[in-house]
Amino acid sequence: MDIKTKTLRLILGDQLNINHSWFTSVDINVTYVLMEIRSETDYAKHHIQKVVGIFAAMQSFAKELQQKNHDVIYIHLNDENNLHRFDENVVALIDKYKFNQFEYLLPDEYRVDEHLKTFAQKLDIPTKVFDTEHFYSTRTELGDLFAGKKTYLMETFYRHMRKKHKVLVDGESKPLHGKWNFDEDNRSKLPKAHKPVIPLVFSNDVNEIETEIKKANIKTIGKVDSKNFIWPINRKQSLELLDFFSTNCLQYFGTFQDAMAPNEWSVYHSRLSFSMNIKLISPKEVVDKAIEVYNKKSDQIAFHQLEGFVRQIIGWREYMRGIYWLKMPEYANLNYFQHVEKLPNWFWTGDTKMNCLKDAIHQSLDYAYAHHIQRLMVTGNFALLAGVHPDEVDAWYLGIYIDAFEWVEITNTRGMSQFADGGIVGTKPYVSSAAYMNKMSSYCSGCYYDKNKKTGDRACPFNSLYWNFYHKHEDKLGNNPRIGMMYNVWKKMNADVQKALLDQADHYLKHINEL
Ligand SMILES: Cc1cc2nc3c(=O)[nH]c(=O)nc-3n(C[C@H](O)[C@H](O)[C@H](O)COP(=O)(O)OP(=O)(O)OC[C@H]3O[C@@H](n4cnc5c(N)ncnc54)[C@H](O)[C@@H]3O)c2cc1C
Ligand code: SF4
Repeated sequence: MDIKTKTLRLILGDQLNINHSWFTSVDINVTYVLMEIRSETDYAKHHIQKVVGIFAAMQSFAKELQQKNHDVIYIHLNDENNLHRFDENVVALIDKYKFNQFEYLLPDEYRVDEHLKTFAQKLDIPTKVFDTEHFYSTRTELGDLFAGKKTYLMETFYRHMRKKHKVLVDGESKPLHGKWNFDEDNRSKLPKAHKPVIPLVFSNDVNEIETEIKKANIKTIGKVDSKNFIWPINRKQSLELLDFFSTNCLQYFGTFQDAMAPNEWSVYHSRLSFSMNIKLISPKEVVDKAIEVYNKKSDQIAFHQLEGFVRQIIGWREYMRGIYWLKMPEYANLNYFQHVEKLPNWFWTGDTKMNCLKDAIHQSLDYAYAHHIQRLMVTGNFALLAGVHPDEVDAWYLGIYIDAFEWVEITNTRGMSQFADGGIVGTKPYVSSAAYMNKMSSYCSGCYYDKNKKTGDRACPFNSLYWNFYHKHEDKLGNNPRIGMMYNVWKKMNADVQKALLDQADHYLKHINEL
């Protein structure tokens, strides 16, 4: 007699892709399981909005599956039988319901991937793993493209993606408007009287979820208004946010991509990373929508705005994932500069006199969000100049942002921001003095510190820390052709000036918690 196949399919909290082929038809012999477990809430100290947001999206996804008549088991955080590990919960379900097949989707995180791979190998029933059908590229595509090469230029990968997926290219695979990259048309500061669009936020009631998290005594950071949770928690809201972005923000996206201003937490950014990273919407949907809106309104939206946006998704996002799968697990231990310091205490409170950092950190605690240039040139820049250990920096970024999942967090943090990979992702460290901050923001005018002073009372800490960084790492950076000019400037400085800068930096580093 044939034994009927009874399959258990695991869906992780960042795999909420309703358009996945798993769900195209209902199979009465298939049961889906989603679980809220401590191994996931506790591997980093997360922002409360991140935990709440993922659980709310998982619950809503489970309901959607049930409404489509799929059989779903949902293990809540405080359920009595919750064993708080993927493997142990799955084994318990197999025993209880006599499943004779186990299936799961490729995890995005190395840690979970290893865990499920090992577990699946040990199971004494057949197991299968499926693609998440979310990304443009496969895990190994970047590695294959750069096979035998010493460098991994994002631009090369980006052009490959544009051609392969026929995005913004003509019939001969040439870039539309004659160039692949219009980055130099971007990067303006917000004009003084310019008020960016008011961000679209949602008002989800996630109070019950917050209560359960508190009951479980999960340690979190930041705050949440759980009666009015602002982030999209389902596909419908994610599509609404995409629509809002394409209609109201795309036309300024590139121009003000790097702009920062006090109390402007979103500027013209899409805030779609959370929806995309948990797969409520796909990168292709986002890119297609932006192109569709551009095509309808090309008299109002300049091409460089669109290209700048598409590059972030089809380029940077896929590139980071490719680097992650090529370089893990070694990547997680890279520390090119051998940095050892701790993050200043005020990274957890925003309680600093440095206006740019105060704003970026407060905003991160309030919204679980900061846009790219705040992450790179404010918090990341400071951490690098202060010589903070990349493990500390990673833990902070992995915890604080709602969109933080290791595959895209660590490559951005350890790679792009901290240069701890020695130049795999970036060609030079992203560091700056107050001059850059003043060029791209209005933070400096309201600051306790003086942007123009390099030494002495109230001198902006970025100024001396910047030169201290270059001086300290001359052995590693001195021959980098992209930095040569800075070393020329440093070498031309009078010895007294150099000493004063290094003394000032030393003083600040010794009193880092008081800055
Ligand atoms: C130190 C540091 C840490 C970061 N950590 C994360 C993280 O944990 N998760 C995350 O999704 N992004 C991370 N980023 C990349 C980027 O800052 C965020 O994707 C972006 O700020 C999300 O906001 P948004 O959706 O409004 O983006 P937009 O500015 O509207 O950009 C559109 C989309 O492009 C993609 N994108 C843009 N830049 C990048 C990039 N550098 N890498 C990958 N995708 C990109 C995102 O999916 C984003 O949603 C980090 C950047 C830095 C410098
Ligand atoms: S003066 Fe320095 S610390 Fe203050 S806002 Fe400008 S860059 Fe930041």
